[in-house]
Amino acid sequence: MNHYPIYTDLKGRPVLLAGAGHVAERKAESLLAAGARVRVVAETLNEHFRKWHASGVIEWLGTAFHESLLQGVFLVVAATDDHALNRRIFEAAEASGKFCNTVDQLDLCSFIVPAVIDRSPIQIAVSSGGSAPVLARKWRRQIETLIPQHTGKAAALAGKWRSRVKAQIADMSSRRRFWENLFDSRFDTLVAQGKKEEAEAELQAQLEGSGAQQGEVVLVGAGPGDAGLLTLNALQAIQAADIVFYDALVSEEIRALIRKDADKVCVGKRAGLHQVQQEQTNALLVEHALAGKRVVRLKGGDPFVFGRGGEEAQVLAEKGIPFRVVPGITAALGATAYAGIPLTHRDCAQTALFITGHCRPDGSELHWQTLARGNQTLVIYMGTIKAAEITEQLIAHGRAADTPVAVVSNGTLQKQSVRTGILANLPELAAAAERPALMVIGEVVALREELRWFADNGEN
Ligand code: SAH
Repeated sequence: MNHYPIYTDLKGRPVLLAGAGHVAERKAESLLAAGARVRVVAETLNEHFRKWHASGVIEWLGTAFHESLLQGVFLVVAATDDHALNRRIFEAAEASGKFCNTVDQLDLCSFIVPAVIDRSPIQIAVSSGGSAPVLARKWRRQIETLIPQHTGKAAALAGKWRSRVKAQIADMSSRRRFWENLFDSRFDTLVAQGKKEEAEAELQAQLEGSGAQQGEVVLVGAGPGDAGLLTLNALQAIQAADIVFYDALVSEEIRALIRKDADKVCVGKRAGLHQVQQEQTNALLVEHALAGKRVVRLKGGDPFVFGRGGEEAQVLAEKGIPFRVVPGITAALGATAYAGIPLTHRDCAQTALFITGHCRPDGSELHWQTLARGNQTLVIYMGTIKAAEITEQLIAHGRAADTPVAVVSNGTLQKQSVRTGILANLPELAAAAERPALMVIGEVVALREELRWFADNGEN
């Protein structure tokens, strides 16, 4: 082992910090965050240190370093810009048996400071033993995305109950199983939702053996396709799931991120079978949640935007099944951004409307007069087969026939393609477009010429 890792309790303990410049400032920040009493030895203070000193946050010894200053301190940090002085401080610390860290000078360190993922009381430290701090920080960033923010709160609650659980479950392996089940159960969701009292009630119920394993459903938005557009919450949910029901719209790249041993079930829709399939999907969600599973319903874009997530949530609410919703980037935001089309622009669009083309055959649900107004952007989901009718109605209600339009297919994916033209030609553009496709109508489409940044297959 390169270094022996320890976590120190510095609360209220004096630490000697030599230096009061920019580098020392960063050291002071983390020492203060850990509750240390920071004793600064430096002849002058930078502005930050002056403020800290004025408000009593740090102690300042306005003298030059001297061996006697090591007395009574637990750690020493040498962060001056004077190399010889740093060496002298380190040697003095060695002589008096104090741990010393010297900034950017591994041979003058008897302790080093790792990169930390802080979900106190859970803390994960990553270190390269001083050989490649940038690599350690890279891993820290990656791990950071995997550890939910609420995990510290879950640990704190568990800490509070630890001795009671120990008293109640004497056998060590049973106790371990209890904790394992707890952290994989609804308890975790309740903590994530900030419902501390309910989380404790759940813990207690499980401890008393009365907590029948209750499942839950997470409605997760997968975004429009590019896996980089998943949120951290979405990633964590699909990596914690026992079973994932996904739409045909969820890209392969995203499906690859689902936990390897989770069951994956495609509930993609086929034209004509919508209603039957939706009811089956609802029934599946309920059935698996009642069986105690962590169910994820993974939907393209955002679950609450033309995704029937609202209906699924209603069914869950009726059955009393706990659920939460992780929003995703809806196609109207993702596909237009990747096509270089801003949805609004001060000069030419003060409004953007998201519309579904999948409505009653006569379009009577849509208020064409409102939709045909100028200086606004229309984004039409599921509308390519209705393009002719939509075009006709918009022009009949006053939208200019030469309004710029775009049809974005496979938005945000490598295979994205964009067809642009004018409203009068929308039906032909839509007919040629691969699915899924989004139609965008409005002056903002013209900006694509200037703002196009993603290497898509643009026609026209
Ligand atoms: N809940 C989804 C929408 C589901 S409706 C969301 O928020 O995005 C399905 C329609 O969304 C498709 O017919 C298409 O119009 C649009 N769509 C979804 N993903 C798309 C993509 N990657 N590119 C273009 N359109 C997309």
